[in-house]
Amino acid sequence: MKVLLGGGTGFVGKHLRKLLVDNGYKVTVVSRQPGPDRLTWKDISRDGIPEDVTAVVNVAGENILNPLKRWNESFKQAVRSSRIDTTKLLADAIVNATNKPNVFATISGVAIYMPIHKYGYREVDTSPPYDFLSDLTHDWEIAAKLPESVKTRQVVVRSGVVLGRDGGMIRQIYYPFFFNVGGTITLSGAQWFPWIHVDDITGIFLHAIKNDNVTGVLNGVAPDAITNYEFTKAFAKEMWRLSHLPIPGFVMKGLYGSERAKIILQGQRVIPERTVKSGYEYKYPDIISACQNLAPFFEPK
Ligand code: NDP
Repeated sequence: MKVLLGGGTGFVGKHLRKLLVDNGYKVTVVSRQPGPDRLTWKDISRDGIPEDVTAVVNVAGENILNPLKRWNESFKQAVRSSRIDTTKLLADAIVNATNKPNVFATISGVAIYMPIHKYGYREVDTSPPYDFLSDLTHDWEIAAKLPESVKTRQVVVRSGVVLGRDGGMIRQIYYPFFFNVGGTITLSGAQWFPWIHVDDITGIFLHAIKNDNVTGVLNGVAPDAITNYEFTKAFAKEMWRLSHLPIPGFVMKGLYGSERAKIILQGQRVIPERTVKSGYEYKYPDIISACQNLAPFFEPK
């Protein structure tokens, strides 16, 4: 059982790689940089996917919320191509492979749904593209689509904000909270906060690789739908800290630019209906247990 894993050097990718190895899979990472147990995107483009690969997974993508990168056309192009071109390259390589893998599983985002306040999106629901990120997400999923004639099983995981101690959003907010200067994003924090623990987003990918009944779109969010306010309170409580300093929207806009800040200032209510029905059992279904794991006083077993 061999998995080809695009983006296996990133936050989600490293956790997924470890989980797969712990479950007896051999993993070859696809990266921009060559190295041991790695192929580069150029290798895939030139030689296709290795013959013995049974699953192909892609979680590559330039970090959109890198505050050091200015939100200009060249960065937006890198954000798009790092997701769409890598995914399309793998899809084309599967089409051209003589020995096709059993499964092709790719990450996507809940930005595909509109941030309408009360509406809960299940996997069957659709929204028209409404901004840069939703447009990108639609194109990302189109890039992943294999022709009907290809028998490789296909899974797309629409991920919410991934929570883990060593990356993503928690790494950015950890010290502000630790030093008691954390708070909601926007004054009210009323926007939805679709979230998932990193052990569950990787768990969903493992579940998708292992189980032949898992196909199509899965919402990669926890069943516990909460707002940014509820997340902030839970995280601060488990950190034994205050959360009394909200970050107003205009500060986020100043830091990230208004188009990019929308990612943080708006949120979707997302329901993982197909994920649950497919038999996936969450390790962290609620925000309290997730935040207990994220806090510094928790010792992982
Ligand atoms: P990271 O930034 O930690 O890592 C992603 C990996 O993508 C990197 O290790 C890098 O691999 C590769 N990459 C980065 N830039 C480029 C580029 N310009 N071209 C090709 N490859 C590139 O991201 P995460 O692990 O946090 O996220 C993984 C994926 O999941 C992303 O596509 C993201 O959009 C999606 N996602 C993440 C969420 C989150 O909260 N973290 C939420 C929803 C979706 P290398 O350097 O080896 O080439």
